[in-house]
Amino acid sequence: MSDFSALFTEIFEANNLNRFITENNIAAFERLTGLLADFNARTNITAVAGERETIALHYADSLVCADLIPEGAHLLDVGCGGGFPSLPLAVARPDLHVTALDATAKKLRFVELAAADLGLDNIAPLCGRAEVLGHEPKHRGKYSVVVARAVAPLGRLLEYCLPFTSSDGRFIALKGQHGAEELEESASALEKLRGRVIRSCEYTLYGAGEPQSRFAAVFVPSGKLPDSFPRSNAAITKRPL
Ligand code: SAH
Repeated sequence: MSDFSALFTEIFEANNLNRFITENNIAAFERLTGLLADFNARTNITAVAGERETIALHYADSLVCADLIPEGAHLLDVGCGGGFPSLPLAVARPDLHVTALDATAKKLRFVELAAADLGLDNIAPLCGRAEVLGHEPKHRGKYSVVVARAVAPLGRLLEYCLPFTSSDGRFIALKGQHGAEELEESASALEKLRGRVIRSCEYTLYGAGEPQSRFAAVFVPSGKLPDSFPRSNAAITKRPL
């Protein structure tokens, strides 16, 4: 067993992700780790450095939500940065059709490069601002699963993400240790955006130093979203719902 394989196995077991420990996944994630390190040395796209941190904070942390995603979903990752959680999901869940959205083109270049190198045909980059694309008929209400990790406070994130969610779809917010408080504070935003929370859980991420607290919440549309949402970025930032 290579060092990478041993580390991957240890961290995935610690996070109860045993079902993803396969030869194919280990080979793909080892390759992805090399690509990310090379790319990051030239263009800084992530602060996470080292194999242990990359496996725990990028791969395991991206895949903890995998069971909340139905088979064959059309998934949009809003504010994917260098492709998290979208790239690990595309690797480990070949059944998904993944779109990786970010406003920063240089970060999406990594998604493109990694997808080409790993031969992933189930992930496509989308460059633009969420609050703009959320009004386009091609994207509004068109995704059965929307996910976002580490993008904005939950009230704002709901305004970015619910417009993309199909009427029978769901939005999964991946948050850090203050997620439960953010959820309480987002009641008014949820009401205005016609959304409802159907599930939330606190959990622990293991493998990178001290265990870290995490929070995930699943939202569904509970009515038709008014056309006025999402508002402009200035309004979203300056006038929280
Ligand atoms: N989800 C990734 C990146 C988080 S950093 C991860 O967990 O590693 C936040 C990212 O969100 C940045 O890359 C930023 O460009 C993007 N972002 C923030 N607001 C956005 C918006 N309104 N539309 C599109 N992308 C946005």
